[in-house]
Amino acid sequence: LYDGGIVTRVDAVSLGVMVNRDAVRFYDEGEDFWPKRYAIWGRLVAMQPGQIGYCIIDSQAIGRFMPPVFPGVRADTLPELARALGLDEQRFMQTLTAYNEACRVGTFDHTVLDDCHTEGLAPPKTHWARPIDRPPYYGYALRPGITFTYLGLKTDAEARVYFGGAPSENLFVAGEMMAGNVLGQGYTAGVGMSIGTAFGRIAGTQAARAAGKEAAHALA
Ligand SMILES: Cc1cc2nc3c(=O)[nH]c(=O)nc-3n(C[C@H](O)[C@H](O)[C@H](O)COP(=O)(O)OP(=O)(O)OC[C@H]3O[C@@H](n4cnc5c(N)ncnc54)[C@H](O)[C@@H]3O)c2cc1C
Repeated sequence: LYDGGIVTRVDAVSLGVMVNRDAVRFYDEGEDFWPKRYAIWGRLVAMQPGQIGYCIIDSQAIGRFMPPVFPGVRADTLPELARALGLDEQRFMQTLTAYNEACRVGTFDHTVLDDCHTEGLAPPKTHWARPIDRPPYYGYALRPGITFTYLGLKTDAEARVYFGGAPSENLFVAGEMMAGNVLGQGYTAGVGMSIGTAFGRIAGTQAARAAGKEAAHALA
């Protein structure tokens, strides 16, 4: 079973480590807060072999993130967890041991970019780094999903669809179909709902006005 679409909806990434199918870490899990993580982890997992990643946490993380839809895999030891996830046990233990030894734990605080970090590890974990050494252990398989694309129709503030550089008189757009006009890259929380409602109202008003004009023209 995999995360239901958006990788960081299993939002334990920053509380543990992420490894790929080869049981190797591939990015700084402590780089930033959700929702900045939201946009980058799907892409990162998509770039891994087999487009799969595994979020590894221990009991210290439990209760600190939104309960995931899928229960994940639970084990009493790290080697047991590796086997249950189908990962190379030796490589997994090398990765986890190197990470645990590199942790420099300061004052853990998941609400700020705290001072718990790794030293001498590549890639580093720059915040919220604590050794993963308190059983039971949990692993969540994560796959990327599509939330939206950056493609769609060109439009303007009046929601008019552009053809060949000119605005249409009677075709208007709102929501996902115009997301690329607002977001070129990255993600801003709530943008999907915002452009759907704001431009939905504009496009609807404009469409009604255009239809009214056409009706008046037909009657004249
Ligand atoms: C997993 C996931 C999580 C998300 N989380 C958030 C979030 O937390 N916050 C946020 O702001 N946004 C979020 N979004 C984005 C947000 O859901 C979308 O931006 C928004 O729902 C888009 O609305 P829309 O009306 O533009 O398009 P849609 O909701 O996709 O509506 C398009 C409709 O058109 C219908 N349709 C398609 N083709 C035809 C056809 N030929 N004839 C008739 N009907 C057709 C489809 O069936 C669909 O009902 C998320 C998206 C996903 C996938």
